[in-house]
Amino acid sequence: MARDKALKLLNTRDPALKGLLEVPEEEYMYSGHNACPGCGAAQAMRFVLKALGNQTINVLAASCWSGIAGVFPYSALKIPVLHTAFETAAAAASGVRASLDMQGDKETVVLAWAGDGGTFDIGLQALSGAGERNEDILYVCYDNEAYMNTGVHRSSATPYLAWTATTPVIHPQDRPKKDILAIMAAHRIPYAATASVAFPHDLIEKAGKAKGIRGTRFLHIYSPCTPGWRYSPELGIKIARLAVESKVFPLYEVEGGERYTLSYRPRAVPVREYLRLQGRFDHLREEEIGLIQEEVDRRWERLLRWCT
Ligand code: SF4
Repeated sequence: MARDKALKLLNTRDPALKGLLEVPEEEYMYSGHNACPGCGAAQAMRFVLKALGNQTINVLAASCWSGIAGVFPYSALKIPVLHTAFETAAAAASGVRASLDMQGDKETVVLAWAGDGGTFDIGLQALSGAGERNEDILYVCYDNEAYMNTGVHRSSATPYLAWTATTPVIHPQDRPKKDILAIMAAHRIPYAATASVAFPHDLIEKAGKAKGIRGTRFLHIYSPCTPGWRYSPELGIKIARLAVESKVFPLYEVEGGERYTLSYRPRAVPVREYLRLQGRFDHLREEEIGLIQEEVDRRWERLLRWCT
């Protein structure tokens, strides 16, 4: 009862916690997984499975999650898992879907799960093929903005001027992050959306909506990484919330590749507030922070035009 009261209070004061009381209590992850403390990827899986339930098969591409899930015969998940190669999440999931269809099973959800490296870079060809064929799969990209499982190596999801082990400060990442949602929208798939582990109700709602749609669905989930972004574990959710509130990572949906809908209107916090909590941006100079702010504002205006 005290917990319910506290959550009700939180719900009225904080829009990010809206609907927290309706989050399903059922868990499909065991507590003894292998993620680092403060890992957003672990939270992303936990929330998505709350929406999908246990009639789900997880096709897991090589990524941090291969380690988090554990090595056979151990598993951190209470649903069947098919571990697959880095580039094959969408292709393997398409195969699992075809097999289920041949058995007359239209109900089981096939969940392809990959990080940004396995989605933006290595697995993009398989993902594009699945999207173009409109395979009946739900593809989730948990985005921690680098190859964290190989030692914080740059991916095409790494943000402009961020430090990684392969883009050190003397030669930082000088290209903008790839717009994966626009790429998936261009495939005219039925449903694509961004979500964040800092907005669990929104995330679970979107995963539940995707579950009820046939064809290729794509969720892009913002997932902080403790060692890769160089923050203290208790700050992960705060950083994820600031990413949304500063418009660095807006929450929105795209239906049929054309209908854009904003899910949450941010408070327009200066991007500096978001950057300063992460060691990967420690080296930034004033003018560089200004450049990032300009780019964030420009992309936000573009998103608003698409939404109207
Ligand atoms: S390295 Fe990052 S993504 Fe990988 S388990 Fe640790 S916190 Fe999670």
